[in-house]
Amino acid sequence: NRTFFVGGNFKMNGSKASIKAIIDNLNSADLPSNVEVVLAPPAPYLSLAVENVKAKTISIAAQNAFDKASGAYTGEISVESLKDLNVPWVILGHSERRTIFKETDQFIASKTKFALDSGVKVILCIGETLEEKKAGTTLDVCKRQLKAVSDVVSDWSNIVIAYEPVWAIGTGLAATAEDAQDIQHQIREYLKTTIGADQANAVRILYGGSANGKNVSQFKDKADVDGFLVGGASLKPEFVDIIKSRQ
Ligand code: 13P
Repeated sequence: NRTFFVGGNFKMNGSKASIKAIIDNLNSADLPSNVEVVLAPPAPYLSLAVENVKAKTISIAAQNAFDKASGAYTGEISVESLKDLNVPWVILGHSERRTIFKETDQFIASKTKFALDSGVKVILCIGETLEEKKAGTTLDVCKRQLKAVSDVVSDWSNIVIAYEPVWAIGTGLAATAEDAQDIQHQIREYLKTTIGADQANAVRILYGGSANGKNVSQFKDKADVDGFLVGGASLKPEFVDIIKSRQ
């Protein structure tokens, strides 16, 4: 009974025209009423996205936010601005933020706590690199990334977890549905020990990494795959197929 969730992370892509076209396409797509869809355009287009979404099941996310409400933090994004713009979600801990911008587990945890305390829901991304996978440390990495958050956040009702193995992101090489289910099941089992069984059973765990209109149907019967966080394919018409993939 976890509501199926599909996120579209546009990353640093798009223009006024292309983002409006993506949203227009979704507005006219007759989307299922039982799938929660969240679109994350680049920050400069958040307002445009909010203003153009018509479908009731679609809401908007920022791709990042800082852990202070306001002040002398040039270039950062405030959760207060997100609320002002009617943006209810933020993606935090994406691997591109962790690797390119050197965000630590603790910083991501602090930003997660701040967003939640301010009333903005969080899509929390975790996942191992190829080196970590080869070293057999996938679960250890996920646990470490989650523990940083569970150390400072006790209420996980407004968190959605996105398991995104770094080696699968943008490579066209998605994890198999069996492997994703296996890891995500173990993630949920681990969470039972930190946030309790009730919250662990309620939290949605998405798969992300080269998910597309063709391969998502393979995940259909996987009990611990509660949806997808989609990068490249969220910019294309096949995003609709992903949203409809559990029907
Ligand atoms: P791709 O779907 O392009 O592999 O990206 C996944 C991702 O990073 C979503 O946050």
